[in-house]
Amino acid sequence: MLQGARYEHAEALRAASQQLGIEVEVIHLKMGKQVDSHLDCLVLPGGESTAMRKASESESLLGAIYAWMDEYPLRPVLGTCAGAILLAQPDSAYEPFIRTGIARNAWGRQRDSFEAMLEVNLEVPDGKDVEASADERNQFNHQPLPVQAAGSESSTEHFHGVFIRAPRFDQSTIECNQVVHLGKEAVGVLDGSRLALTFHPELTGDYRFHRWLLHRA
Ligand code: GLN
Repeated sequence: MLQGARYEHAEALRAASQQLGIEVEVIHLKMGKQVDSHLDCLVLPGGESTAMRKASESESLLGAIYAWMDEYPLRPVLGTCAGAILLAQPDSAYEPFIRTGIARNAWGRQRDSFEAMLEVNLEVPDGKDVEASADERNQFNHQPLPVQAAGSESSTEHFHGVFIRAPRFDQSTIECNQVVHLGKEAVGVLDGSRLALTFHPELTGDYRFHRWLLHRA
């Protein structure tokens, strides 16, 4: 919770928990000492991965997160955009947490950011219809983008992808499951319990990836 689209993820987790009818406690991690065995799952948000690495230094947050992932390999992690970069390119002390190459800013500059329909191939639990409370979004004036929400919940379906100065997986180096595609290109990969997406699901009103995370936890 140091940088990037973090409040949106917190809201999305709350909405997803309501859809699943379960209770969650969302913990805003800012210091390494908060990262302990009580955490069931983790979100690494999008934003700016270099800024995140730097911002986390003083309180050793990222190092603690990597150590936690190393210690609890079965606990699910969702990394979006910059978060996907942090999963694929951890500190040299660790092997990549998702086995794929990734190139930063590989779609171009900020103005080359785009939205596109994606194909999802990931088993996700259904959720009942609920509105996100949007407290924190409102506080920071971060409103969900007015994109189309998901319709049915079959195994292959469309998802409205929001790509903001996004990275790209180096397609020939992907050694894990490809679960989201833009045309022929994989933009979402699953490696064990780690899901890395190069787009921003938390900016839409479609919380299926957050439901996946909570369901798997
Ligand atoms: N360009 C950013 C980076 O390299 C990622 C962009 C994003 O998370 N929206 O870290």
